[in-house]
Amino acid sequence: MISDTSPPRSRHDLLITGGRAVTPEGVREVDIAVDGGKVTALLERGHRATAAHVRDVTGCHVLPGLIDSHVHFRTPGLTHKEDWPHGSRAAAAGGVTTVIDMPNTQPPLLDPAKVSERAELVAGRSLVDFRFHLGTSPETLDRLKALTPQDATSVKIFMAGHHTAPNVLRSPSDLRRAFEFAAGQSVLLVLHAEADAVFALLDAAGAPPAQYRDYERARPRSGGIVAVTQVIELVQRYGTHAHILHVSSAEEVQLLIAARRSGLPISFELTGHHLSFTAADSARQGARLRLSPSIRSAEDQEALWAALLSGEAGTLGSDHAPHTVEEKTRGVAQAPPGIPGVQELATAVFTGMRRRQPEAPADRHLVLLAEHLARRPAELFGLAHRKGSIVPGLDADLVVFDADRPWMVTAADLHTKAGWSAYEGWTMAGRVLATVRRGEVIWDQAEGRFGSPVGVLLNPDCP
Ligand SMILES: [Zn+2]
Repeated sequence: MISDTSPPRSRHDLLITGGRAVTPEGVREVDIAVDGGKVTALLERGHRATAAHVRDVTGCHVLPGLIDSHVHFRTPGLTHKEDWPHGSRAAAAGGVTTVIDMPNTQPPLLDPAKVSERAELVAGRSLVDFRFHLGTSPETLDRLKALTPQDATSVKIFMAGHHTAPNVLRSPSDLRRAFEFAAGQSVLLVLHAEADAVFALLDAAGAPPAQYRDYERARPRSGGIVAVTQVIELVQRYGTHAHILHVSSAEEVQLLIAARRSGLPISFELTGHHLSFTAADSARQGARLRLSPSIRSAEDQEALWAALLSGEAGTLGSDHAPHTVEEKTRGVAQAPPGIPGVQELATAVFTGMRRRQPEAPADRHLVLLAEHLARRPAELFGLAHRKGSIVPGLDADLVVFDADRPWMVTAADLHTKAGWSAYEGWTMAGRVLATVRRGEVIWDQAEGRFGSPVGVLLNPDCP
């Protein structure tokens, strides 16, 4: 069956030939035709189409461009940690073609009227397309009333704070206001769901962490469990759509899956680092693996993997949150939480999948990756009219991935401004060989070459 509607011998801008395309119908042996930045045809082998540029990717898979809906590119105000030129190169090298940036910058993005100004800061600096989560605070909740889908379709709420997250909704009445508002406007709430009150109680009763292994004791699972329970109650009451970020414990997974099965509009994110590391790694790596929420036990990690492999987790996100080496090596209590990860996310998760299920076909794991890192985030964040699947008519955002190309991560491979990775020394099971954004090759691994920084602000109305 030939799904090409164009005349035979038609000449396309770009043909990606010989690959195994990960499409909504499964993995297909088709060539992909690209014109004007869009996928225009999926061609069965033996077609007669030609193109101005042909890229033979025989032996590789072609994934839809990945959407990392959780990055902190630190602009403005914290650009000594990360900026858009570095962050978007790291994204492209990791197969990510769209990012959604978090609002806890300096100043933070708390006002819908400031979104276009923020986009101006990024214009001409990003290799990848982008969007913003709007932030909020007790003082600025009222400003959300002016929010339109053009500004943002999601609002980030921190229920607990940390070094780079000072704007926190602590009080039950503020949280109720936010949930009621979001339900009325069909806005998605994305939540850092840890209970500030739990941590305040523990801080008042005990000394701050003195050793790296004390992170988990100072910010235990009870904080996440209490906050997730609060969120589920608020979703029950208001019908608000909520997406819980960086879920870390088995209990949270259990509660959230139960809430989903009961029909509540609630979903959750798993991060590369909670899937890749355990408390034993934190004890060994120290400040590198200081994270918020904390890295937890091997049993918790297995619960996260079970949710991912069964398809019951919503999305994967990197929570790419770089800090400099100097910041990370401050005293144990002062070292800020967060690690880079947008470049490592897809390959680290794929590597974990291969290690856990070496007998399963790579096709199955790449379908799961495309589901969690492309199709679902596109739908959740209002981008599915352009992004998230390899389908004629959508943007030609594509990743050439060699599922059988082991390689070792070294500092020389990294593109984040922070210059370090918790994955250094890891042997990855597969590799991103090329990334295409709207028809342009923005990362060519063999040549070590990037494309042009013409990423655009995505708009839910804009075709
Ligand atoms: Zn984050």
